[in-house]
Amino acid sequence: MTDNGMAEKFDVIVIGGGPGGYVAAIRAAQLGLSTACIDMTTGKDGKAALGGTCLNVGCIPSKALLDSSKHYYQLQHEYAAHGISVADASMDIATMLARKDNVVSKLTGGVAQLFKANKVKQLHGRGRLLADRRVAFTPHAGEDSLLLEADNIILAAGSVPIAIANVEYDDEYIIDNAGALDLTEVPRRLGVIGAGVIGLELGSVWQRLGSEVTLLEALPTFLPAADQDISKQAGRLFKRQGLDIRLGTLVKSASVADAEVRVTLQDKEGESEISFNRLLVAVGRKPYTEGLLAEDSGVALNERGQIDVNEKSQTTATGVWAIGDCVRGPMLAHKASEEGIAVAELVAGKAAHIHFDTVPWVIYTDPEIAWVGKTEQQLKEQGVDYRSGSFPFAATGRGLAMGNAAGLVKILAATDTDEILGVHIVGPAASELIAECVVTMEFHGAAEDLARIVHAHPTLSEAIHEAALHVDKRAIHRGN
Ligand code: FAD
Ligand code: AMP
Repeated sequence: MTDNGMAEKFDVIVIGGGPGGYVAAIRAAQLGLSTACIDMTTGKDGKAALGGTCLNVGCIPSKALLDSSKHYYQLQHEYAAHGISVADASMDIATMLARKDNVVSKLTGGVAQLFKANKVKQLHGRGRLLADRRVAFTPHAGEDSLLLEADNIILAAGSVPIAIANVEYDDEYIIDNAGALDLTEVPRRLGVIGAGVIGLELGSVWQRLGSEVTLLEALPTFLPAADQDISKQAGRLFKRQGLDIRLGTLVKSASVADAEVRVTLQDKEGESEISFNRLLVAVGRKPYTEGLLAEDSGVALNERGQIDVNEKSQTTATGVWAIGDCVRGPMLAHKASEEGIAVAELVAGKAAHIHFDTVPWVIYTDPEIAWVGKTEQQLKEQGVDYRSGSFPFAATGRGLAMGNAAGLVKILAATDTDEILGVHIVGPAASELIAECVVTMEFHGAAEDLARIVHAHPTLSEAIHEAALHVDKRAIHRGN
């Protein structure tokens, strides 16, 4: 309440300061709307840490550790071929973690600076949506709840790790993503439940640093959402690196005894036990709506526990919007941010639209995996006529010169119009290479367009150029 007992009023209140919420708040403020953003995350220094899962325990810290561990792995396994040898190389885990924490705090602090520069009011604590676009804000600083109100409210509460039955997190031996980003020693044997994006990325970090990593995956297919040519090739490469990926393996329970985690699993041989020094549970994430909605808020959830929204991100309550991991669609930071921008623009009376069909997916393993659009299996299921072209990085001069030439680019294009329907990459810098393909698809470009665009030589992007030529069976540097 304000001093005169009235609720403090804003044009927009955002609940959640992750890549969905903070971006929505900045865009709303840029558009001249008075904006507040409530976020409850506290950083390791005890202060507010904006950026949500992504900056604090997701995208950014995982990439920091992937980079550190990659340097160490390359030093041990790859630099010798370049003539570089270092005697007695060692890894100081504390330094690696401190560097990662420093990257995180630079970025979370950067968001706070952006809030100041754009005059977004930052509120550190919990927000709860009440009826009639009012919000109860409970500050972490121990003060009483304040009543706020706004013409528009954007819910961006994000997601939390899923727990599975009979596997209880104890945050020491049985850990989630946050725990796996802060292990102070390299576990001798690390078990990972779930060979999805998070399991593969964090499993790779510790495997490169010396852990024996075993991924237990219930599904019979590796990375079923990716194009199967890509996931098969990636699976082979990961196996060669030493990741033990066991498909068709369902974890039934886990318990901690004598400083070990004993896992009971079920595979085609029947039930068996396996022990690890640490167990990372990476079986997916669920929308976080605990304490977010008062009973009379008017906001409905769907059967998957997501906040129900229409194609414009409007919830079932007038003037209340929802974005990011707490609604339908892929749980990706860039998807959350684009929804944030679109909603702010809709609130300001502008037109906005997101093309979910061209949201890129990236897995930051080595090699990286990235794709946009449809997979070959989806096109087959949908009975779409397509042509396919591919090109291996091993046939690019740059890939060979770098000593990093595993993988391929695969392009799928409509037979009748040649419009690109999907691009799938496993290989070096796939996360960066995919951008060109997203742009082409956004402009409804054809394989012929990519084939006629001049690509610099020698670059990895020549693999995209050649794959596009190969759609028409006229690649230069491979057989057609
Ligand atoms: P979040 O980032 O989860 O932010 C929500 C925020 O709202 C949190 O700070 C939360 O504390 C706060 N909040 C919730 N409820 C309330 C409340 N009632 N009051 C106040 N505050 C509240 N995605 C990618 O695109 N690329 C990647 O490389 C990538 N890597 C990942 C790696 C890991 C290990 C993990 C776990 C995730 C990764 N993701 C990645 C996914 C990405 O982090 C999420 O998709 C993204 O953070 C979703 O953004 P969001 O704003 O919807 O929610
Ligand atoms: P993602 O959704 O990409 O984070 O991946 C999570 C993975 O965990 C999925 O591939 C699931 O099949 C897998 N998974 C979920 N539950 C179990 C379980 N009990 N045992 C093994 N794998 C599981």
